[in-house]
Amino acid sequence: MVDCDFLVVGHGIAGATLAYVLRQRGHHVLVYDPGQTNSASNVAAGLMNPVAGKRFALTWRAAELLPFAATFYRELEQRYNQSFFIEAPILKLFASIEEQNAVLARSADQPWGDFVAGFVTADPNLPGVHGPFGGAWLRHGGHVAVRELLAALAAEGTRDGWLRPETFDWARLVTSPAGVTYAEQVRARHVICCEGAGALRNPYFNWLPLTPNQGEVLDVECADLSTAQVLNRGAYVVPVGTTHFRVGATYRWPPFTDGPTAVGREELAARLTVITDLPFTVTGQQAGVRPAVRDRRPLLGSHPTVPMLSFCGGYGSKGVMLAPRLAVMLADWLDGRGEIWADASLQRYNALRPVGVG
Ligand SMILES: Cc1cc2nc3c(=O)[nH]c(=O)nc-3n(C[C@H](O)[C@H](O)[C@H](O)COP(=O)(O)OP(=O)(O)OC[C@H]3O[C@@H](n4cnc5c(N)ncnc54)[C@H](O)[C@@H]3O)c2cc1C
Repeated sequence: MVDCDFLVVGHGIAGATLAYVLRQRGHHVLVYDPGQTNSASNVAAGLMNPVAGKRFALTWRAAELLPFAATFYRELEQRYNQSFFIEAPILKLFASIEEQNAVLARSADQPWGDFVAGFVTADPNLPGVHGPFGGAWLRHGGHVAVRELLAALAAEGTRDGWLRPETFDWARLVTSPAGVTYAEQVRARHVICCEGAGALRNPYFNWLPLTPNQGEVLDVECADLSTAQVLNRGAYVVPVGTTHFRVGATYRWPPFTDGPTAVGREELAARLTVITDLPFTVTGQQAGVRPAVRDRRPLLGSHPTVPMLSFCGGYGSKGVMLAPRLAVMLADWLDGRGEIWADASLQRYNALRPVGVG
């Protein structure tokens, strides 16, 4: 029998950041993940964008989450001696003169802080980029190489024995007030579900209002497009090398497809041609499922009746920016200090749990 403090189920960005924080605090952590290459985290473009959506509003708690995430990913870079986070300006191109007018009219009332570096009302003059209506330059955002980051952490986990490349079978979990036993092999004080959209199959947490959403991204090569910024207009174009970009993303509600589709590829290629007239070659395409939540807020905290089980997820389309701060918040709470923000706590949905289930 192996003893551990925390058993973490899932090594996407939610589970990996949480496990990292717990290990840094000296806890004995065991992580289960079979290593699916098409997890949401593995296909994500890694964008951290403080301003998003049609309303061009600051995203939820961006002023706190974004600098926290940047510092966190820098710390990981030092530890693994690898580059993961590229701070890059984001050019949000206006799609029409109406959009330009609407954004400029609202600009005085918005709490954008210093995330908006400035507006251009004429073409920004980037070679090959269509920007006839100008745009907004955003700063302090950027992109994280999530797949590489998870691979670095997983390599350490495999080497040091804290990562098991297995699917966790919740039917083999036995809970008692003293802790839990798994498969008659592992004893833990606490188990945390970080299964992404897979949590819908979790017998303890399947009542949470996850509304998974499938997305596709294209990898393209475009030799002459500038890599100095992320471009955003109907799609985002994230540089991932000197001539390569990740273009995303589509949104599809169930039923989901088994993987990437021709329709997704055409849609993203068409959106890219709105942004640039430079020739490009599609070099890859991937699909994954976002763990979205009905009210678009994360879900953190313990099970209402089985307190040695907790949940960490519901990050929707913003996992890269959310994960570091929320991992630390949950770790603090598991360590008996600190509170979970009310609008991130799963307690807001406790009434949804059917009596007698999980
Ligand atoms: C196409 C696309 C593009 C995206 N782009 C961005 C972006 O640019 N920026 C951004 O911030 N976010 C983006 N997202 C969203 C982001 O990917 C998610 O918010 C984030 O990855 C969710 O992380 P997670 O760890 O909760 O879930 P996941 O990444 O799904 O990880 C869950 C992990 O749990 C494992 N697991 C599940 N069940 C079990 C089990 N029973 N036993 C063991 N392991 C299990 C899975 O194998 C998986 O590794 C994108 C998503 C998609 C689909």
